Amino acid sequence: MYFYKISIIKKKLKMKKVISLTIVFLFIVSCSTVPITGRKRINVVSDAQILPASFKQYAGFLKEHKISKDAKMSNEVQNVGINISRAVDKFMRANGMVNEANNYRWEFNLIEDKTVNAWCMPGGKVVFYSGILPICDNTDGIAAVMGHEVAHAFAKHGQERMTSAYGQQLGGIAVALGTGNKDPKTQKLWNTIYGVGSTVGMLAYSRTHETEADKLGMVFMIMAGYRPEEAVNVWIRMKDRASGKAPPEFLSTHPSNQTRIDNLRKYLPTAKAMAKKYNTQ
Ligand SMILES: [Zn+2]
Repeated sequence: MYFYKISIIKKKLKMKKVISLTIVFLFIVSCSTVPITGRKRINVVSDAQILPASFKQYAGFLKEHKISKDAKMSNEVQNVGINISRAVDKFMRANGMVNEANNYRWEFNLIEDKTVNAWCMPGGKVVFYSGILPICDNTDGIAAVMGHEVAHAFAKHGQERMTSAYGQQLGGIAVALGTGNKDPKTQKLWNTIYGVGSTVGMLAYSRTHETEADKLGMVFMIMAGYRPEEAVNVWIRMKDRASGKAPPEFLSTHPSNQTRIDNLRKYLPTAKAMAKKYNTQ
């Protein structure tokens, strides 16, 4: 009996070791680098897993929200989106990401909603809320927000968030990849991870992710032929709004601060040089 128990304990320990080794292995093989910025990241969610879920979430979202009837603004958002997506596609194809580029199903929609929000889900599924248009103010401003949101998707920030959620609470990814669009648990997770259906405004990722999206977004908007100086003005308008009539939730969800504006200004020459390099590849 005694020896029997010991062998069970030994077996259990062995299992634990196998599981933790598997997790370590999973994290090692999931270590990759964000293109352009070179930041190391850990992402255990593959495109094959996330894209079908993303496309389903997007279709479900559009069905439940009001697509804008403003043809002029819808076209403008769409045109900017197409131009930015061409720049991203060009970069991917020239830098060993052909498979990834082929998996994108770009789509740009403007919805009627006063929330100051915009997001891009994996695989290039973009939504602009009409409430963000005054902050964008002009075509270059739309390009700045578009570049920023597309950059979050390009750098797979959402999947990185899922990966860390996976570490904290097993099963998080499974829920996020769940097929039911109406399942409140799945919806809540997608809302947390991608800002989908958020009623308080643009989702603030971590400072690292926000800074990275600012930089990448600036490179992409220049590649697409827009004025990057407007990205600075967008965040100045965002800041003014936050200090003025915005509800307190807005301040807590999107701290648009002076540091961000300063960093964008500082990054302008680098972004211009990078865009030039990638456009001539
Ligand atoms: Zn962001």
